[in-house]
Amino acid sequence: MDMKSADIEKIVRQVLESMGSSAAPARATSASVPATARVAMLTKLEHFDLKEYPIPEIGDDDVLVKVEGCGVCGTDAHEFKRDPFGLIPVVLGHEGTGEIVKMGKNVKVDSAGKPLAIGDKVVTCMIFKDNPDITMFDLNKQNVGGADVYGLLPDDDKHLNGWFSDYILVRGGSTIFNVSDLDLDSRILIEPCAVLIHAVERAKTTGILRFNSRVVVQGCGPIGLICIAVLRTLGTENIVAVDGEAKRLEFAKLMGATETVNFKDHKGIEALAGAVKDAFGGYLADFAFQCTGSPVAHANIYKFIRNGGGLCELGFFINGGDATINPHFDICSKEITTVGSWVYTLRDYATTFDFLKRAKAIGIPLEKLITHKYPLEKINEALETNLKMEGLKIAIVND
Ligand SMILES: [Zn+2]
Repeated sequence: MDMKSADIEKIVRQVLESMGSSAAPARATSASVPATARVAMLTKLEHFDLKEYPIPEIGDDDVLVKVEGCGVCGTDAHEFKRDPFGLIPVVLGHEGTGEIVKMGKNVKVDSAGKPLAIGDKVVTCMIFKDNPDITMFDLNKQNVGGADVYGLLPDDDKHLNGWFSDYILVRGGSTIFNVSDLDLDSRILIEPCAVLIHAVERAKTTGILRFNSRVVVQGCGPIGLICIAVLRTLGTENIVAVDGEAKRLEFAKLMGATETVNFKDHKGIEALAGAVKDAFGGYLADFAFQCTGSPVAHANIYKFIRNGGGLCELGFFINGGDATINPHFDICSKEITTVGSWVYTLRDYATTFDFLKRAKAIGIPLEKLITHKYPLEKINEALETNLKMEGLKIAIVND
């Protein structure tokens, strides 16, 4: 057979290439992925069962994540107690984070374009299955209220659909972010923090929130407390926190509140508004964040705001009932600019990573928000602790 040396070279190159590609497996896998994974399945009201399922084969666009931890959200507590979304049986947990152990061959970068590899720490929560063309940049002006969320998906034959588990299967088309440069506690706090990044972005659209604004934050659960921290990292100096629990108000100071007002110390809204005014040295607030789910608290907050001031209402994640306000006194004559805020955009997620680093850099101890950590097998206890309103953020942490 007569063969030119150029042809031989070509064949040798092809052989070497094919050897190279067969040496690299089509699907990258870390050394030790077990055959099965446990999930905490909510099988009836107020009861999780630990179930074990085979870890399924992953598709070319999927990512298998070993769960490290997941925060317990108010939404999980509602689902645990009443199943308002009719999801039972369901694997809950949407504030989760973990490590990539297996990747489909098409997966190269995260939703922000950052490279992804085995061993990277990630967060995810959204699946845009109805509109796969939505990207984080299209969503600048639109929150993700309509998307599916891991941890609030109906059970299916894969089962690994929520973060209260050993492993979660992140399907192609979902958002995923490489957050390897954040510690575990920070990563567990990403989802709730994104809610506040979004709320403050909404507040800024009013043009009223400035460096020197007097800002009142009503409600010092995790959401209100993170709100204070976000305002501090933004450079807001003058923050008054309002709540009914001394312990939470102490925490508000740790997060950056300058003064606190316990509403239980003041009878009636006029006395309470007076106390807020005193806390600002004789001025009403320029801007207010309403972070409780109480209709009375919504009605009250207008009295804390000066003429021409602004309000961001973000406390009503779910329907908490009607509030009675006086449109003349509360909105019209005071010319108050109001914005509502719900969930976040994908861009807010990226901003949240920077916020967490900045908060750490200026010494805000955000990690102290996680007051309780439970292993997966104690998930029933974790939810009961949450329902008792003990502590602040409860988290499931796998070893
Ligand atoms: Zn949540």
